[in-house]
Amino acid sequence: MSVSRHTHAAWLLACACAVLGCAPPPPGDAAATSAPRGADPEITAFIAKIRAVDNHSHANSVAPGDSDQDALPLEVIFPFDVPVQLRPDNPDWLAAYKALYKYPHADMSDAHMNELRSTMQGVAKEQGDKFPTWVLDQVGTEVLLTNRVAMGPGLAPPRFRWVSYVDALMLPLSTKAEAATSPDREKLFPLEDKLLQRYMSDLNVAKRPATLDAYLETVVTPTLEAQQRGGCVAVKFEAAFLRSLDFEDVPAATASKIYAKYAATGEPSHADYKALQDYLFRYIAREAGRLGMAVHIHSFGGPGNFYRAAGADPLLLESAFNDPTLRTTNFVIVHGGGVYAPHAGAMLWKPNVYLDMSGMTLLYTPAKLAEVLRDWLTQYPEKVLFGSDAAAFGPDTGWELAAWIATKNGRAALALALTDMIRNGEVSRARAAEIATMVMRTNAVTLYKLEPK
Ligand SMILES: [Zn+2]
Repeated sequence: MSVSRHTHAAWLLACACAVLGCAPPPPGDAAATSAPRGADPEITAFIAKIRAVDNHSHANSVAPGDSDQDALPLEVIFPFDVPVQLRPDNPDWLAAYKALYKYPHADMSDAHMNELRSTMQGVAKEQGDKFPTWVLDQVGTEVLLTNRVAMGPGLAPPRFRWVSYVDALMLPLSTKAEAATSPDREKLFPLEDKLLQRYMSDLNVAKRPATLDAYLETVVTPTLEAQQRGGCVAVKFEAAFLRSLDFEDVPAATASKIYAKYAATGEPSHADYKALQDYLFRYIAREAGRLGMAVHIHSFGGPGNFYRAAGADPLLLESAFNDPTLRTTNFVIVHGGGVYAPHAGAMLWKPNVYLDMSGMTLLYTPAKLAEVLRDWLTQYPEKVLFGSDAAAFGPDTGWELAAWIATKNGRAALALALTDMIRNGEVSRARAAEIATMVMRTNAVTLYKLEPK
């Protein structure tokens, strides 16, 4: 099957006390409160009431035809088959229709779906600019980090926090040769070229500066500073769609020489361009740290027909994580590495590395995700973050429905993992409740300094 338009690159395929505390239990989580099979009812009920901070999503604004929800929208690399969990006939969607829109039917016949579409339009109209906030209230999320090129109407702080995209800043030279390395990349690189043009145009920089120093000074740093001023709490690399994650330590002189050689014209060799990108990745990460923004990095087994999963292994990031000059930058392995989840767990030894479960909350069953969480929570529970990767997957599968499903699955998986730890005598009930609160909420509050000073 193929997914309709408005899909996003990420399934992988990103406060005041009144906001962060003291809120009543979410109204729309009836399904989330019924314990998943084998889970302890008490810990399940406790987790259902935690007001979440969601580390990663692509929420839509209420702007008509919203096109800023992803730097690399996956519709450009369609068609490809998505895993079973994400297909429209997965019963989770039906459960989400019931929870969010009081869908009264047990089937998805054409007549019933037309009725549902009219209900969805009615709610969107009634809620207007408040629709995204209404969604958060339904799914029990207090703060949603949303990974977008730019924010838009309906997505205001403190409930919505911005995570920008920065891969384009790493790609100042011609990307023609890089794009030719796979049919997907042929479609994706031009989008990065366009985004860099947009960033430069925002700064009134008409053409590519002649030297690397000038590029850093007039394009990279000012773009990051503008994003920080615009409320960014983190910047995101989707680099795994475009190259492998082995960002080596390249001397500035080497990078400057490569930049200067091709700034005016010409196609850099892959080796040269990789070295320049490696240098820029670390520069961007260092600047993000200086500006108090975390660095999010996509790490998962997909998506697409030509995606290179081997290049998305979090172990490839170890050299960058070990860079002493990057120790004031906090990194988050987004989607927890997928099949490489234990590798992501190994990176948690680094003092500045975190990970989230986003995407896995949509693509894995709660039982499978629980196994992943079990490993991480036994090691570094203070560095594991809840995340949904909620995004619009099609006309009948909007981001609000994905948010509901992912949040339900994330809570269920956490309940299963903690139940196992309680029953094995590894943690007390009190400690399990503490870990649940950390994962669903307070780890992110601490990382992004979301609490009032
Ligand atoms: Zn995403």
